[in-house]
Amino acid sequence: ARAAAAEQASGPGRTRDGHPVALLANIGGPKDIAAALEHGAEGVGLYRTEFLFLDRAAPPSLDEQRDAYRAALDAFPGGKVVVRVLDAGADKPLAFLSATDEPNPALGVRGLRILRRHPDVLATQLAALVAAAEGTRAELQVMAPMVADAEEAAWFAATAGQAGVASAGVMVEVPIAALRARDLAGEVDFFSIGTNDLAQYAAAADRQVGSLSAHQDPWQPGLLDLVAATAEAAGAVGKPCGVCGEAAADPALACVLAGLGVTSLSMGASALPLVRVALASNTHEQCRNAAAAARAARSADQARAAARAELPGLA
Ligand code: PEP
Ligand code: MG
Repeated sequence: ARAAAAEQASGPGRTRDGHPVALLANIGGPKDIAAALEHGAEGVGLYRTEFLFLDRAAPPSLDEQRDAYRAALDAFPGGKVVVRVLDAGADKPLAFLSATDEPNPALGVRGLRILRRHPDVLATQLAALVAAAEGTRAELQVMAPMVADAEEAAWFAATAGQAGVASAGVMVEVPIAALRARDLAGEVDFFSIGTNDLAQYAAAADRQVGSLSAHQDPWQPGLLDLVAATAEAAGAVGKPCGVCGEAAADPALACVLAGLGVTSLSMGASALPLVRVALASNTHEQCRNAAAAARAARSADQARAAARAELPGLA
């Protein structure tokens, strides 16, 4: 029993009946790796590369980027490291890239839209990633932010493939991308759902306006519907679908996401232990029942209560 408890505290993510749900860490740079390891992350599910680019007049060099990516790959031999290419604009403005005169920056030229206008920045980043992965034992996966449709997904996968990236995916954080995930699924190797932006755009509520936080609630049944559509489309073609937004860090919601068919959860490292215990305390069927109950609810609060009633293993 003690071994089982220790395993629950540190082993790979799985439900009580052994259904695997990989537990990964969100990091912003090499400084976050120690905490990820300490909390038992199986790898990195979201490497936010913006932090390397912040507060500078020009992008970091290829060598500087390679070293920063390499640090994460070296830390997880046998694991996977999902790196997001630069997500500039809106809440992450960069002086040398982002337009400053847009009336609605969150709806403006951001994420992949910026990179397509600055192919040199993307090319350098992809080259740095490929160089970083050479000779390491971790699996490098690269994903694009703010992808809206299959054309953008195909463009990114082709560009990453030409640069030598072995696994290319997209973040699903724009509602039409979730609604038409079946169109995107054939173009990429994996999905990662960004529930922070997906909630912002689905509810038309700016994530930076604190007084709108209730509209950002990740338990909203409408948001769960978008997650379900995305996970189903990925599952139908046998491709992984993770969640890397804040929603993954809520232990009860993590169970619901697993029940919706999400295959990995990535979060700030400090949230990993409680999510690991929540998954280990409920069966996959209980997670599926909780997901169905939450989607049948009519509000975020009702969804939360309905899911909890189906998850007896929760503390
Ligand atoms: C998200 O949008 O949910 C996400 C994980 O990315 P970020 O918070 O960096 O926009
Ligand atoms: Mg986002």
